[in-house]
Amino acid sequence: MELAVIGMGRVGLVVAACLADFGHHVWGADNVTSKVADLEKGTMPFYEPGLEELAHKNQRAGRLSYTDDLPSAVRRASAIFLAVGTEDGGEGKPNLGPLFQAGEEIAHCLDAYKVLVIKSTVPVGTAARWRSHVQARTRAAFDVVSNPEFLREGAAIDNFMRPDRVILGSTSEKAIHLLREIYQHLYLLETPFVIVDHETAELIKYATNAFLATKVTFINEMATLCEATGADVHAVARAMGLDKRIGPKFLHPGPGFGGSCLPKDTRTLAEMARGLGCSLPLAESIPQSNRAIVPQLVARLERKLGALRGKTVAVLGLSYKPFTDDVRESPALEFVRRLLEAGATVRAHDPQANQEAARNLTHASLSFHDSPFVACSGADAAAILTEWNEFRSLDLKELRRPMKGGVLLDARNVYDPDEAVAAGFDYMGRGRAPRRTECAAG
Ligand code: NAD
Repeated sequence: MELAVIGMGRVGLVVAACLADFGHHVWGADNVTSKVADLEKGTMPFYEPGLEELAHKNQRAGRLSYTDDLPSAVRRASAIFLAVGTEDGGEGKPNLGPLFQAGEEIAHCLDAYKVLVIKSTVPVGTAARWRSHVQARTRAAFDVVSNPEFLREGAAIDNFMRPDRVILGSTSEKAIHLLREIYQHLYLLETPFVIVDHETAELIKYATNAFLATKVTFINEMATLCEATGADVHAVARAMGLDKRIGPKFLHPGPGFGGSCLPKDTRTLAEMARGLGCSLPLAESIPQSNRAIVPQLVARLERKLGALRGKTVAVLGLSYKPFTDDVRESPALEFVRRLLEAGATVRAHDPQANQEAARNLTHASLSFHDSPFVACSGADAAAILTEWNEFRSLDLKELRRPMKGGVLLDARNVYDPDEAVAAGFDYMGRGRAPRRTECAAG
């Protein structure tokens, strides 16, 4: 089947490459001409494990083509997947401009029945409004399906190829039938399909992300309590996770959740409820609690080092999680920003995200380095903000050697506190350091 995917971003490009790998011929369209030109040459616009190989393979096989000519992609395709960005336009209201603009462009070139599939995350009621917007600009027949995407950056291909479930929101049997054909590969894997109306499909996405954000926030609050009580958050999380009603996933303490989804989607859920006059105090509190963690980390560092002005801190990890170079709403970047505001010098290193971080944050006292050891040279403290595998087995004695001071803030609990102390570090973790090393400092 010929398909089009609009928006060659972190979702759209993965969707296009995977649908092509299912055997469809996919037109990947983006309105940024330079991005399309790079893709045609085989250059990926971001880092996602396995994506380059998958895209190249399907491009070579003639199943994946790129274009900045949206009308030609739309005319050829039976179904058009919309994966344009819906960034926070302020106060939890996503910017739906790109989606509605793409809708107008599609409407103007619709010449036969097509299925328009909304993959972007959009507030409840958007699909219905968007449908009317397109309808008002075309005489051609079409159906809209809400098909929210649940892939996680860093494991996006596997998530798309082997999803936990597929949500299809539509009242059109014809459209659902076409989507079932497109996703036949997933049917063979016995992937559960949940067929609902638009509004329910839209809300499932927000409910899922808000629930995941709640789990992360909950264990982060327990970590803070462990720091005050001397309890060990890892033992707490493990024991909680063994309870089958809770499960072990998303119970790892850290510097707070980030990325382009959980922060934006939790804010939107709360804003949506407010707009409808519903009170959701839990949803309201999640972003608030999450935002409090980075300032707490900076304050802990300050208690150890004294005033941060004139101090040098090595920051290891800048992406919001490992296996991606995405720094959107990364707690690591916020941590760096706050250190710089406090007058510290920051020497940063990330295995993949140095470039992305430099695009988002420039400062005379901020430098980027190619290795953790170089970043730590002359530093008063080192802080691990992202749990890249590269940071899990560093020779801590070697890391400590070029440093001026010996503070290690392990915001991801990558290291065993005793091991870090044995290597000469004054160690602070998340919810497990006080017992061993932090009691005296309070
Ligand atoms: P992104 O910003 O990485 O990509 C969006 C792309 O759309 C860009 O390449 C942009 O140039 C293109 N675009 C915008 N308007 C266009 C138009 N009119 N015509 C053609 N191209 C256009 O965004 P993303 O991270 O891929 O997210 C896309 C959507 O998927 C968002 O709604 C997001 O919330 C949702 N989502 C993201 C993830 C994730 O992990 N990133 C996971 C699930 C869902």
